Amino acid sequence: MNHFLDLSEDTPGPARRLAGHLGNIVRAATAGDAGTAWESALPCRRRPANHRCSGRMIVLRTEAGSPIRWQCSVCDDEGVISNWEDSAFDLRRRQLTLAEAANQIVIPDEVAAALRGLQLLDTDCKRLVFRIRAYNDHAILAATDDDLDELIGFVTAEANNESNRRRQQRLDAAFDVLKAAAQTRDGW
Ligand SMILES: [Zn+2]
Repeated sequence: MNHFLDLSEDTPGPARRLAGHLGNIVRAATAGDAGTAWESALPCRRRPANHRCSGRMIVLRTEAGSPIRWQCSVCDDEGVISNWEDSAFDLRRRQLTLAEAANQIVIPDEVAAALRGLQLLDTDCKRLVFRIRAYNDHAILAATDDDLDELIGFVTAEANNESNRRRQQRLDAAFDVLKAAAQTRDGW
């Protein structure tokens, strides 16, 4: 994993995209629970016969010192990632925290992707976003009430600063979905 952290500006696009993909797998595996394989919302990057594979990344992290294993839920793409510990992608909690009751919020895949693309997230919110699980054609965000409010704050801040119209529309869509979930929670 280490050499992915040292990508220079002139790294070719395909290598950069692969590095981004593997980095996201490490983020998901370290954000989610250890010891069990689970299906993240991360899409497969393969394109057999020019059609995007519809699979998601199933990730398994056991313990520090052991590689993270991943495989696609549909095609045979799979691999292992070593030396992920304490890399820039490592989202493991540094301390124990009490588990709070989390709302299970079903969100469209595009919203999950928009949340993963947020630039300003703090580590807690990154963990939240990379823990998003696959759920049929959708994804499930498990967030406590506080988590949800914080995430909405980040989406709002970033949407306000986004100059690219397409990205801003994606952020607005994410905002609408999260806001609707918060309003349901608050009994609106
Ligand atoms: Zn696949």
